[in-house]
This record gives sequence, structure tokens and C-alpha cells, in this order.
Amino acid sequence: MQAASDRDVLLVVDIQNDFCPGGALAVPGGDEIVPAVNRLARGFAHVVLTQDWHPPAHSSFASTHPGKHPFDTVEMFYGRQILWPDHCIQGTPGAAFHPQFDIPHAELIVRKGFHRTIDSYSAFRENDRKTPTGLASYLRERGFERVTLCGLATDFCVLYSALDARAAGFAVAVVVDACRGLDIDGSLARALDDMREAGVALI
Ligand SMILES: [Zn+2]
Repeated sequence: MQAASDRDVLLVVDIQNDFCPGGALAVPGGDEIVPAVNRLARGFAHVVLTQDWHPPAHSSFASTHPGKHPFDTVEMFYGRQILWPDHCIQGTPGAAFHPQFDIPHAELIVRKGFHRTIDSYSAFRENDRKTPTGLASYLRERGFERVTLCGLATDFCVLYSALDARAAGFAVAVVVDACRGLDIDGSLARALDDMREAGVALI
């Protein structure tokens, strides 16, 4: 891998208890990547973390839609949305980073999904594809040109963040071995194809 410079930033997506085995929305093997993510981060002078951060009764939770179950889909005002188990509720242990996660030099934590009526897979734009998180401007202002991603889940938050980073004009790479996917109905293979097609380097 190319040595990281001051133009490089590592974006570590959602290494939180609820996305690891035993959590409310566990990604298979989600905890296995934590040592690799910690190692990877040591090679970057600049690291940004994301943290899924929902209010109670968030609109992406199946429990807020009578008669619906986790992994059903609904039409939101912004389009189709998968419904999830309640997860990553602000201030709860499930929303905390994994206990072995260890990147003390991370410079920014981007919290996402805090608007009650909009989910946010991407670290850049919420699921209405309009509401910005502010991250693109932050990275530009800091002078970063290349974004390398890892984390959870490959086929949702990593995918959307990688595509949006490309759309914002950054060179983008995803460290596939430092990610794990949910793989709902073939979503993992589709995600890898979509990222390749968008010019994301899979390394
Ligand atoms: Zn979420």
C-alpha cells in the first residue's frame, strides 16, 4: 500500500458494539477486523471515525413502524429504506466503540443518523442524498486528497461513504480485509461491483 502522507486520511466506519457479534445489528465477524483496523490506523497520520448515532424511536427502526419487522422495507419521503432492529441509540453501550478499538490519534468523530426522520449510511450525505454531514468540506479544508476506508458494514455504510467520497472528488480506496459485510440478498457482491465501477480502488 502507498505510504500515507498529509494528503491521506483514513476513514474508519462504525466500529461499534451494536455492529459486532452480541450487538443489536451484528455484522458477521465484525469484531474480527478490530486488530487489523488498529494496525492500519498506525500507518496514517490522519484518521477520522464515524459513529452511527440514532435518537430513540428513529425512523429507520422497524419498532417505530407498526406491523413491520427488521429487514422489511418501507417507502420514506426520500425513497426506499430497509428497517433495522433498534441499534446505536445515542449514549447507550451499543453505540459505543468496540472495547478493543484503539485509535487515540483520531482527529474527528462524525456522528450520523441523528435526524429522527432520515437514516444515514454515508459519512458524507444522509439517505435523502441531500442533507450533508459536513465531512466533505472538512476534508477539503484540511487539504486531504485521498480517502482510505475500512469498517462496518462493507455493503452499507462503507459502500455509501466510498461512493460519496468519489462523488466529492477524492481519490478513494477501501481496504477490503479490514471490512465486513451484512450481505442481505447479495448486497455484498453488488457493493464491491458498484465501488469498482465508481473508480474506488479495492485493496
Ligand atoms: Zn443506523
